[in-house]
Amino acid sequence: MKIIPIGGLDEVGKNMTIIESDKDIVIIDAGIGFIKKKEIPGIEIAIPDITYLEEKKQKIKGIIVTHGHEDHIGAIPFILDSLSIPVYAPRMACELIRKKLYRSRNNISPKIFPIKENNEYKLGDIVFEFFPVCHSIPDSYGLLINTPCGNIVHSGDFKFDKNPTIGNDYKTNINHLKRILKDEVMILMSESTNAEEEGYSISDEEVKKSINSIIKSHNNRIIISTFASQISRTKIISDACIKYNKRLCIVGKSMIENTKIAKNLGHISSYEELMIRPDQINNINQNNLVILTTGSQGEKQSGLVRIANNNDKNIQIRDGDTVVISASTIPGNEVQVNEAINKLLKLGAKVITDKDQTIHTSGHAHKNELKELINTVKPKFFVPVHGEIKMQMAHGKIAESENINQENIFILENGEVLLLKDKKLEINGKVPAENILVDGKNLIYEDDVIIKERNQIYKNGIILVTILSDSKYEINKIVDLKSYGVIIDDSYENIKFIKDSLEKNINSSIKKQPKNKKIENFIKEYSSNFLKQKLDIKSKIIVSLVNHG
Ligand SMILES: [Zn+2]
Ligand SMILES: [Zn+2]
Repeated sequence: MKIIPIGGLDEVGKNMTIIESDKDIVIIDAGIGFIKKKEIPGIEIAIPDITYLEEKKQKIKGIIVTHGHEDHIGAIPFILDSLSIPVYAPRMACELIRKKLYRSRNNISPKIFPIKENNEYKLGDIVFEFFPVCHSIPDSYGLLINTPCGNIVHSGDFKFDKNPTIGNDYKTNINHLKRILKDEVMILMSESTNAEEEGYSISDEEVKKSINSIIKSHNNRIIISTFASQISRTKIISDACIKYNKRLCIVGKSMIENTKIAKNLGHISSYEELMIRPDQINNINQNNLVILTTGSQGEKQSGLVRIANNNDKNIQIRDGDTVVISASTIPGNEVQVNEAINKLLKLGAKVITDKDQTIHTSGHAHKNELKELINTVKPKFFVPVHGEIKMQMAHGKIAESENINQENIFILENGEVLLLKDKKLEINGKVPAENILVDGKNLIYEDDVIIKERNQIYKNGIILVTILSDSKYEINKIVDLKSYGVIIDDSYENIKFIKDSLEKNINSSIKKQPKNKKIENFIKEYSSNFLKQKLDIKSKIIVSLVNHG
């Protein structure tokens, strides 16, 4: 058996793992990652590298999805573009994947199957069972994987919460896992997001108390922002609004869509008497109003950022408004979150964040919960996944403290191949696992020449020179010189001087040009070097030669 994590290691996001037997391959999750590097301008998302899978198309039996977060399902439309395989996913994830495929409008008719908790899914000689886990989106599951070489447990994203907001199945059902754990588990792959956090994660019960007290005690308008898929938060807020006689308005496309899906699946009630539409906001008493929207990470297109920029049709911040950011800031988003907060404060709002009150809890297990899973599964080998290297290492230490032998703990990189054979596990080679960047409709590698060019223009600007030549390249005339993003003295005299001297020099040096060089290339190179020296710049210079006659 081979186990190959293609994404999600030494990073948060882009999760994908390959499970491969001699005969079959199954993919677990296919997520996107967010690109925040300055060196990659214009690119926001990356997907996992499927080079290895494309070589083994015939063996692939399907994708198994643990839950509906973007870092687990976001790359599915891209994968289905090149691999025609069925998807097995929890109900909420199924709905979100269908929406995605509808939006991406690719002409594929995918087979998406909602999974049932007590069923076994036999994909070739690899068999999957799902156990419910508690996480920040409903319908989240961990996996028990039965392979010809022994059992593997994959945690999915999880936490333990004794008082979750949504239903009992929303608890990490350790009893369900215990019931299906019949034989020894060879490998536990467990998520590491919060492996550096002490103790236990905060229960949803605490969040509920704080949000209730905010909604009860404020007699002004309240605007709450959180993640669109945080359905338990939507439920807490809706219930509090009913309890304290407020009206609720949900703003933002993804928030409205996610809430609708959760209602259809029965995770939350319909709250018909409670809800108002955004266009009705200004017809009711503002002090009785709670607005729920996206934008907790300062995302450009989100509801909260629109409001902070004073760009929302229906909502303008007024003195006395309270904005509650019911989320923690994901590392890397600090600048844009602060920018939104500063703008809201300037407009006269009061802002409450998770630093002020317990208005958010993470969906990921802290140290003690991670220990509990390791102790329940008691695996022979341990592979910390889903997290940056420091989180993977902290998780490795936790496993050590729970009596897993140090040599049985594997801190891997994306693409490293684990080989499980005769109850032994070893690293055996590496497969391609680069970041594949999504650039509009195109997919490119990080080292693509496009990225280099974009960086050059982004840092140093660009100069375009158009040269008109006769048929023998004997008379060359500079007809245009345009600069973008370059500071040059572009006064008429200066540009004229540069043009004239370049013209003169090309025409005189063309006679001395080396014989082996194409005259066209010579002119381009000569002009580019000449301008570089004259203007003392690092800009990209593009010379286009127009031949007439
Ligand atoms: Zn998740
Ligand atoms: Zn995740």
